[in-house]
Amino acid sequence: MPHAKKGKFAKVKCKDCSNEQIVFLHAATMVKCEICGATIAKPAGGKAEIRGEIVEIVG
Ligand SMILES: [Zn+2]
Repeated sequence: MPHAKKGKFAKVKCKDCSNEQIVFLHAATMVKCEICGATIAKPAGGKAEIRGEIVEIVG
């Protein structure tokens, strides 16, 4: 099994409108899609729970 890439940010695709935006993976607050307002990440005690599709890990 390949090692997961470690990073602090991920490009996440919104499930609702396919907008892609950069999300901090340890977000302490809800992150909403800039376009449609859907929740794409929510804090989960440390690492945020990503609701959309992670396109790539950045940074
Ligand atoms: Zn959206």
